[in-house]
Amino acid sequence: MDILRAIACFGLATFLWGCSTDVRNSAGDLLVSGGVIVDVEGGSITPPKDILIAHGKIVEIVDHHEDNSFGAIEVLDAKGLYLLPGLIDVHAHVGDGGILENDDVDRQQALLQFLRYGVTTIFVPGGGGGNDVQLNAWKEYCGNEPARCPRIFGSGNIVTAHGSHPIGTIWGFPDDVDPRVVFERGAIGIGESDSVDDLIAAKLEANVDAIKIVVEDGPGGFAPKPRLSRTKVAEICGKARTSGLRVFAHVSLSEHVVDVVDGHCDGIMHAPDDELSDSTLALMAERQVYYVATLSLFDALMDQEVGFRDQESYAIAGVSKKALVSLEGDEYWAVDRESAGLIEEWKSAIDTNLQRAVEFGVPIALGTDTNNPQIFPGYSAHEELALMVEAGLDEIDALKAATIGAASFLEQSNLIGSLKPGLQADIVALRENPLDDILHTRRIAFVLTNGTNVDGVVAEP
Ligand SMILES: [Zn+2]
Repeated sequence: MDILRAIACFGLATFLWGCSTDVRNSAGDLLVSGGVIVDVEGGSITPPKDILIAHGKIVEIVDHHEDNSFGAIEVLDAKGLYLLPGLIDVHAHVGDGGILENDDVDRQQALLQFLRYGVTTIFVPGGGGGNDVQLNAWKEYCGNEPARCPRIFGSGNIVTAHGSHPIGTIWGFPDDVDPRVVFERGAIGIGESDSVDDLIAAKLEANVDAIKIVVEDGPGGFAPKPRLSRTKVAEICGKARTSGLRVFAHVSLSEHVVDVVDGHCDGIMHAPDDELSDSTLALMAERQVYYVATLSLFDALMDQEVGFRDQESYAIAGVSKKALVSLEGDEYWAVDRESAGLIEEWKSAIDTNLQRAVEFGVPIALGTDTNNPQIFPGYSAHEELALMVEAGLDEIDALKAATIGAASFLEQSNLIGSLKPGLQADIVALRENPLDDILHTRRIAFVLTNGTNVDGVVAEP
């Protein structure tokens, strides 16, 4: 009723209804006035709009009116700005992107850093301390600190074969490692005969949003490692689906993707290093298996192989000194470097896969793999957008992946990913049109999360 009255308060009705005092306290607390909206779904820019926000949600969007006709308590002038839904990163470990271990302070700083770069929602896919318990602790912290923290979804512990990635690879644990140590770090090792029913019951009990499995023989120099069998992958994905949980899979080769798609899993969390076949891409499109490319991760890994990274000032502007200093040492760089030819082939395969996935109609969600070295929270979403365009995507397809695509990956399209009445007021206001140049996503004027202004936004001038 209040809303109907507020709408009626435009124009002539103002006189008849005498709205100015009544509506002020009930209609909304913030009016974002006069900005144009980047219509991510339609791929166009709207005329100037007024967005009324109350209790963190968008209540109404109408054509811009010079007066504060809604009587909102506060008006935020957005004239000349391009309003984009808050960015979403669906492959975001919580940490600073350096090579040193992170404590709670580093992690809280990382959470704030997402917001400062306009990333208002993340999906944490286990690892890096992100176990079932920690995920719930972060959710609680973020619930209490909504202006310092993105909205968090996550998988809790990664599920992998005993001794496989990341337990016996990048974490370097021996085969007889105490499972409690592995759990603490953010993974669970399972065997072929272990009960999937028990695993899913534990995940439901832990209140996770999805399950992440590892379908991997290596990666790279770590191969061969044990890998979950096709049968086990299908059993996990099938039983999880019956229980209302979706399953996303770490992969690194196209043959892993085949197992994941055949097993009716819901998405892949990296681009494979070799080219996907037409039949795999067609089946991914048919079954709507999500494709999360993490091009940012591969870009950093390639630079690590080459032995040099040309770091942009925007990348490091919001990053902690601890993280940056940790990356200066020799230990970061690869010792046995790959040849330039091999790196070129690798880059071409991951770019081609993404381009063809879009052509085939595979759903794409933006994910960057933050907290791998050089993958800085928040900034990496902008880097991923730029790398997607470099890989051959249109600006609009890249922006879709970061907003409506990622929201639908999370099954949260009625909460986030678009600027529409009823959705959360997560808004990134840009000084220039991102459809003209994807680098314009860095020209941030302000960020709203749940209708609250984020302090210390990191922007290119
Ligand atoms: Zn990851």
